[in-house]
Amino acid sequence: DAVPDLDRVVKEIAEEMRQRPDRGEVASYIPELARVDSDAFGLVVIDAEGRVAAGGDSETPFSIQSISKAFTLTLALGMVGDRLWRRVGREPSGSPFNSIVQLERERGIPRNPFINAGAIAVTDVILSGHQPREALGEILRFMRFLADDSSIVIDEAVAASEQRTGFRNAALAHYMKSFGVIENPVDFTLGVYFHHCAISMSCRQLAMAGRFLAYSGRNPATGHSVVPPERARRINAVMLTCGHYDGSGEFAYRVGLPGKSGVGGGILAIAPGKASIAVWSPGLDASGNSHLGRIALEALTRRLGWSIFGT
Ligand code: GLN
Repeated sequence: DAVPDLDRVVKEIAEEMRQRPDRGEVASYIPELARVDSDAFGLVVIDAEGRVAAGGDSETPFSIQSISKAFTLTLALGMVGDRLWRRVGREPSGSPFNSIVQLERERGIPRNPFINAGAIAVTDVILSGHQPREALGEILRFMRFLADDSSIVIDEAVAASEQRTGFRNAALAHYMKSFGVIENPVDFTLGVYFHHCAISMSCRQLAMAGRFLAYSGRNPATGHSVVPPERARRINAVMLTCGHYDGSGEFAYRVGLPGKSGVGGGILAIAPGKASIAVWSPGLDASGNSHLGRIALEALTRRLGWSIFGT
């Protein structure tokens, strides 16, 4: 069978999603996210040849939120290697993204780097030996480098709101600190965490940034290695099993790709060897993952036969 034309498939899916009445609930814990238009929808696929297929609001920046956790994990592994796994596990949690329950049973070691507790612990690793401003600069520079786009910025209003309302994240950080899992002053670690969650990017920028995960750790445009192939494979594995919190099983079942979601409605999905994909639809499902984002990715992988589990 002829491979369907990628650009046509992407635009068709974007159009189908725009017409659906079911859009999920936009996150409302901070005003900056609550006022995002629930009708927005963007989808970008970048293939191995660097061809960009874009549909809908593909150039509109949105709050990447927890999608940043895939990139902070990459940075922290680059800094301390496999020693990172002494500070954070890599098992699915089966709990909501902001859950605290497992921390007591597991002596302050978060289950994985993608729930909030785990991402705060990973942020603390990146911060050690640096000032918060330097650590944040490092994360932002990494995003700009990966996306090849120096216009990517942090939305300071989002960061300030996160900081003002982030009581549960503060509780997670203090609780981990009591077990010695957090090394730096809790407020410093939280400040860096809130700010990297507040990075704004478009679907195009995000799909660009995810390319190294799709192509064995390399940027296919420049041929430069970002991480060794083995590390890209392992980050993808953790994204598959943990990238959607307690919706990770459902995402694997329906989409069949490693993916990382954020409460801003974005999802970065990786089709290894085939494509880096970013989708954005602000309405969320009960697990805090983009409702139409998941449905769009399910349609995409079904039509293209891209699930890692087979056609
Ligand atoms: N900044 C959000 C929080 O810490 C990120 C959560 C998410 O995207 N799931 O609550």
